[in-house]
Amino acid sequence: MDQFANKDLPIIIIGAGAAGLMAARELSEKGLRPVILEAADRPGGRIRTLRDTGFLHPVEAGAEFVHGKLPYTFSLIKQSGVSFRPVKGKMMHVEKGKWVPRQGIDEQWEEMLQKMQELKEDIPLARFMELHLEDKKYAGLRESVKGFAEGFDLADIETVSTFFLRREWMHEEHEQFRIKGGYGKLIDWLATQCREAGCQLHTRSVVKKIDWEKGRVRVHTAGGEVYTGCKLVITASLGVLLAEGTAEAAFRFVPAIDKYLAAAGKIGFGGVLKVLLQFKQPFQKKELGKAGFIICDKGIRTWWTQAPDNNPLLTGWLGGSRLKEYDQSTPEAIMDTALDSLRPVTALEKSAMRVQLTAWKVINWAKEPFSLGAYSFDMPETPAARELLTTPVEDTLFFAGEALYDGASPGTVEAAFNSGAKVAARILRSYSFDS
Ligand SMILES: Cc1cc2nc3c(=O)[nH]c(=O)nc-3n(C[C@H](O)[C@H](O)[C@H](O)COP(=O)(O)OP(=O)(O)OC[C@H]3O[C@@H](n4cnc5c(N)ncnc54)[C@H](O)[C@@H]3O)c2cc1C
Repeated sequence: MDQFANKDLPIIIIGAGAAGLMAARELSEKGLRPVILEAADRPGGRIRTLRDTGFLHPVEAGAEFVHGKLPYTFSLIKQSGVSFRPVKGKMMHVEKGKWVPRQGIDEQWEEMLQKMQELKEDIPLARFMELHLEDKKYAGLRESVKGFAEGFDLADIETVSTFFLRREWMHEEHEQFRIKGGYGKLIDWLATQCREAGCQLHTRSVVKKIDWEKGRVRVHTAGGEVYTGCKLVITASLGVLLAEGTAEAAFRFVPAIDKYLAAAGKIGFGGVLKVLLQFKQPFQKKELGKAGFIICDKGIRTWWTQAPDNNPLLTGWLGGSRLKEYDQSTPEAIMDTALDSLRPVTALEKSAMRVQLTAWKVINWAKEPFSLGAYSFDMPETPAARELLTTPVEDTLFFAGEALYDGASPGTVEAAFNSGAKVAARILRSYSFDS
C-alpha cells in the first residue's frame, strides 16, 4: 500500500494517445477517476484518422497498420467490435523508371542475420556494416539494410542498435491488418469507455509546468489552469519530452529531473513524411493493380496502395537521412516531388496525375507540434535508459508511451497500449483496494 498517495486527489495523465487512454481506462475501471490533460483538440495523438477532408474514405495521417495479431490491440478490437481487414498485395520495386523484380539479396540477408546473431556486444548498425559487410559484394545488401532501417524503423544508422534490428528482422511479422474506418474508431471507443467510467478528459490543455513533491503534483497548463493530483503519468512523445522550452508542447519539472530526461535522450526517435494522394479512379497500370507496397529509387521512396480495397489512394512515406532534404519544403513542393516519384509507377505524366487528383495531404511528423517526431528506435544504450525511465520517480512521476516499451513490437500502437496498461498496473499495485 502506498502511504503517500492521497486518495482524495486524482491521478493526472498527460496525453490522450494510445498509452494515456489505455492507462486511464485501466485506472478508471478500478474507480480511480483519473484526469487526462491533452494538448490537442482531439484524443489519439499519433493516431489521427482524418474524416470529411475530401478523401473518398477516412484516411490515416498517422498510424495505419496493425502489425500482426498483437495481444493488446486485438483484445481492444474484439472488445470494441470494430472490424479489421488483412492488408494484401505484393512488394514491388521501381528502378530507373521500370518495374523490376525484388533484387536477389535474400541469401545475403540470411547470412547477415547469422552474423548479427553471433554478435556478443551491441554496436550501432553503421559499425556492424563496417565490420561485417564491408566487401563490395555486399554493396546491394548494405543499401537495402540502410533502406529498411531508415525507411521502416525511422532509425539513424549511425546510432541504431544492431540488437534492436536483429530482434525485429528475425521475427518479422508478415500478416498486417487495417481497421475498417480507421484506427480513430478504436480511439473514440477507448475515450468513451474512459469517460463513462468517470475519467475526465480535457482537450486543448497544454501542460507547461509540473511542480511536484512525493505524493503530490501541481500541473500548470498554458491556459492558466492548475490541476492537483497525487501521481502523474507522462505519455508525451520523446520529441516533446526533449523539446526546447520555446516549443509549444514543452514542459518543465520543478524540481528538475535531469537524470530522467537525459535517459530519454538515449532512446532514438525518428521523423517521417507521410503523403496522401486521392485519385479519381484506379490506374490502368497492371503492376499497380497487384502492388501492396512499392519501393522507388528517387524522391518519396516508399508507397502503398489500399489493396485489397479498390480505393485509388496512394500513400507515400519517407523517413531517415533523406528527410532533412525536405525540411524547408512547403507541402505543395513535397506533393510535386511525390507526383514526380510516381511517374514510373502510374505511367502518367504529372499533369495527367494532377487532373486525377481529388484530395491530398502532406504531414511532416517532425513538425507536428504535439509529437515532434514519429516513433522510437533503440540505440545500444537504450535498454539501461529505459529501465531508469520505467522506474517511478519517488512513486509520484510515471513515464509511459510507445518509447518505454521493450517487447517485440517497438514503435507501434501496440507498444503504446502495452506501456499504458503496464503503468496503470504498477500504480494499482501501490493502492490497497482491500483495506
Ligand atoms: C506517421 C506515423 C505512422 C505510424 N504508423 C504506425 C502503424 O502503421 N502501426 C503502428 O502500430 N504504429 C504506427 N505508428 C506509431 C504509433 O502511432 C505510435 O507508436 C503510438 O500512437 C504512440 O502512442 P503514445 O500514446 O505513446 O503517444 P502519442 O500518441 O504521441 O500520445 C501522447 C499525447 O500527448 C499529448 N501531448 C504532448 N505534449 C503535451 C503537453 N505539453 N500537454 C498535454 N498533452 C501533450 C499529445 O498531443 C498526444 O496526444 C505511426 C506513427 C506515425 C507518426
